[in-house]
Amino acid sequence: MSENPDKVYEELLNRVKEIDLIYSSLAVLDWDQKTYMPRKGAERRAKMISYLSGLGHEKFVDPKIGELLETLKSDNYDKEEYSDEETNIRELDRQYQKYKKVPNSLVRELSETTTLADQAWVEARKKSDFSEFKPWLEKVIKLKHDYAEAVGYPKEPYDALLDDFEPGATVETTGQVLDNLRTDLVKFVEKVLGSGKHPDTSIVEREYPVDKQELLGKLAAKTIGFDFDSGRLDVTTHPFCTGFGPGDTRITTRFDPKHFNNAFFGILHEAGHGIYDQGLDPKHAGTPRGESVSLGIHESQSRMWENLVGRSRPFWEYFFPIAQGIFHEALRDVQLDDFHFAVNDVRPSFIRVEADEVTYNLHILVRFEIEHAFFKGDLKVDDIPAAWNEKYNHYLGITPANDAEGCLQDVHWSNGLIGYFPTYTLGNLYASQFFVKAQEEIGNLDELFRNGSFIELRDWLLKNIHSHGQRYRAEKLVEVVTGEPLSHQPMMDYLRNKFGPLYGI
Ligand code: ZN
Repeated sequence: MSENPDKVYEELLNRVKEIDLIYSSLAVLDWDQKTYMPRKGAERRAKMISYLSGLGHEKFVDPKIGELLETLKSDNYDKEEYSDEETNIRELDRQYQKYKKVPNSLVRELSETTTLADQAWVEARKKSDFSEFKPWLEKVIKLKHDYAEAVGYPKEPYDALLDDFEPGATVETTGQVLDNLRTDLVKFVEKVLGSGKHPDTSIVEREYPVDKQELLGKLAAKTIGFDFDSGRLDVTTHPFCTGFGPGDTRITTRFDPKHFNNAFFGILHEAGHGIYDQGLDPKHAGTPRGESVSLGIHESQSRMWENLVGRSRPFWEYFFPIAQGIFHEALRDVQLDDFHFAVNDVRPSFIRVEADEVTYNLHILVRFEIEHAFFKGDLKVDDIPAAWNEKYNHYLGITPANDAEGCLQDVHWSNGLIGYFPTYTLGNLYASQFFVKAQEEIGNLDELFRNGSFIELRDWLLKNIHSHGQRYRAEKLVEVVTGEPLSHQPMMDYLRNKFGPLYGI
């Protein structure tokens, strides 16, 4: 027993809270870079970001952090499972052990290679020529293999990558859920597409003035529970959500004056992420107990507000008259049912970020299957474009005309984010499973939504998910909240119940 374990724990927390201030500062710099920074500021900004990232990493892998963790573990300071102390020690130890194993030279090489790979990807995509990106992707894969070997993995190297984004996830567990989903989803998509029914989507492609879109988008974000006294909405090319800690959450969107959907559902999506960040316990800020669980759980929040709530009929029973008041020209002759169908159009498309909620997960399955195969060595990098096109044809009945609308469309692989894609589908699955439970415990959500009352759902998420920080890993959180392990079934039920009637199937 060391002298004073409370003091040791306090020192550990003080150190990680200090490191967190560095990461909050980095988030401000990054947000500013993407929103307001003038073009010529890029060079200086890159230096500031690189300096602070290095400082944060250095402070975290300081052997003193390891010593403090060891002392606390040998003192059994973490004995009570899921307590605040155990949560912080468990998660900090997990991160520390992982980062510590990665040699500095590999961190640098990965960072330099992915910067160059990203530039090569931008050029290759412009020319729609995969062969230009290929040597860079091969380098990234090689370095990610070195990384996986350095940090270790339960069964196969890809597990180490999955674990970076969804701690605890493995090919074995996640792969099984995705396999089950694939079987049911492919059949369902065939039925929807075979129905021959289509909404009139020209309704959402009329004139939607940007200032009015901003007005309605902000109103909707506020109504579902995003706190604008603790957050802002700004404009960027690629929408995102970031946070600087308690009291300051930033969301962004992009507006298209001739398309209603992009900004509106984009704002709901990012507001969903933002509501999660705003719901983290400020008492535990800067420690794992006050941070979000994983990318998948984060995505479950954004997707729930965007799709399960924001594209539901009860939501539009409340918001459609408001939207009609704001977009009088575009919507005065439109019926609620036609509008609701138009924002729930299902059709096969090449581009993931534009996909509807039914086909979206097929886009993810394609990426998961391909990256898992090339990382295992079952698929040669040369063969990625052909495999990609073949899978799009198989799952969605369409074949990309070129690599730009095929395997070169996403930024992830060039940035070294292999193992990231599955978190999007996990998010959709978690969202449906949580939503069933929320429905059960709150009662008639449809009736509440119809009356513009979304706070009951927001508070339920706050109590059951947000306020716990990293107390439970994603897999455990799903069981604690819903009483069941993760399954693809709730999402399939949701899709059938919603799109069955819309498409008459
Ligand atoms: Zn998201």
